[in-house]
Amino acid sequence: MTLLDPVWTSLLYLAAAVFFILALRGLSSPRTARRGNLIGAFGALLAVVTVFLSARLDNIPWIIGAIAVGTAVAAPVARRVKMTQMPQLVALFNGVGGGAAALVALLELSHTGDPWVRLAIVFTLLVGAVSFAGSGVTFAKLQELMTTRPVVFPGLPVVMAAVLLAAVGAGVAVVLTGSLPLAVLLMVLGLAAGALLVLPVGGADVPIVISLLNAFTGLAVAASGVVLGNVLLVVAGTLVGASGTILTRAMAAAMGRSVAGILFGAFKGGSTAGSTAVSERPVRSSSAEDVAVLLGYAQRVIIVPGYGLAVAQGQHTAAELALALEARGIEVDFAIHPVAGRMPGHMNVLLAEANVPYESLKEMGEINSEFRTADVVLVVGANDVVNPAAKTSSGSPIYGMPILEVAEARQVIFLKRSMRPGFAGIENDLLYEPQTSLLFGDAKDSLAKVLGAVKAL
Ligand code: NDP
Repeated sequence: MTLLDPVWTSLLYLAAAVFFILALRGLSSPRTARRGNLIGAFGALLAVVTVFLSARLDNIPWIIGAIAVGTAVAAPVARRVKMTQMPQLVALFNGVGGGAAALVALLELSHTGDPWVRLAIVFTLLVGAVSFAGSGVTFAKLQELMTTRPVVFPGLPVVMAAVLLAAVGAGVAVVLTGSLPLAVLLMVLGLAAGALLVLPVGGADVPIVISLLNAFTGLAVAASGVVLGNVLLVVAGTLVGASGTILTRAMAAAMGRSVAGILFGAFKGGSTAGSTAVSERPVRSSSAEDVAVLLGYAQRVIIVPGYGLAVAQGQHTAAELALALEARGIEVDFAIHPVAGRMPGHMNVLLAEANVPYESLKEMGEINSEFRTADVVLVVGANDVVNPAAKTSSGSPIYGMPILEVAEARQVIFLKRSMRPGFAGIENDLLYEPQTSLLFGDAKDSLAKVLGAVKAL
């Protein structure tokens, strides 16, 4: 006996699906993103409550216990996580979603003899396991538990091909026989394939891979909906799969990459070069007062924000500096690179939080032709997104990535703490160019000092 009849169950699922679609719509703009997120969370809550009221569930204490443990672990983590660690968290949540779908499919294998359902099970097992392991490796890279650079070894393409062939063989056997041990083997092969897929990806391609794995999880969840006969899982999984695919393609296009090139380029052994060694060449370092003079007597200033601005939480001070310069009649813009920071839209979110007007945020395509007319470019905690190695050094992990053409400006000032490289781990020749000077220190402190000095001019 259940509390909800099938008609009410379907109607509530439909309502939850509508909430998910409205959530995606809200998430498409920074102004409505917060509301979109809440709508999506409400849709998910409605879906869970509907399952409890409409299905005959065994083991309710275990289910409630699992929800309690999950909530107790995830809620404090999500509250405490810093903005700059958000991509790792997304990778982690994404991975456990794929892993959960795979485990559910594994359990369902013994409940069905239908080959079509077994086919859906095989798909869920494989794609869910790929997503779980791939997201785990991405998490380790972003959390710097392992190197962020591409990891390749001789024979990698052969190993990958062997794993994929074995997975296809095991998959066919599971569809035909329903064998549990072979299904477990398939899952293990999926885990190996996921890790092997992501290990060779490095530098600028990591953000695109996060989005791709997100799409994989969506597909695995949709297939698990077929396995369980649950329409809402099919709808929600398809939404995630479709939006993840669109985001992956959009990011790849913005970066001048093809998705196949990202996944298989590194197998060809192309993206492993680059050195973390810091060179001994001399650089020109500046004081906050010197920087203030350069900025305060310029006509056109472009600020390039990057990951370091987010780490230092310097967005409010950067916004204040822009206002102070504008008050002196100087034209100021912020140049936004599509993968600046550590998540898609990171810089937009950061600067919106500091109330920088949207009109001052210029996308790469729009601003790149304007650097040559700029008197000063202030690079605040950015490195890879302005590194000319992306154009000149064919062995570099960021080779081929479009960059912000800051070298075209008359003066370039970097605010950073040391000569250490950025995420891709490669040196930036621009730091040593004659038109470049460096103001060493935490971005927020340096910005505050420069702001004080500009006000004193
Ligand atoms: P980078 O990681 O290339 O460089 C960051 C710079 O900030 C470093 O030079 C660092 O130098 C400096 N920095 C760090 N902390 C501070 C601080 N407190 N104060 C001042 N400076 C600081 O950042 P970019 O934004 O240029 O590039 C983003 C990179 O991240 C790209 O390679 C991209 O592919 C990758 N990525 C992007 C994702 C996305 O979706 N946006 C997701 C995952 C990766 P120092 O230590 O000397 O201070």
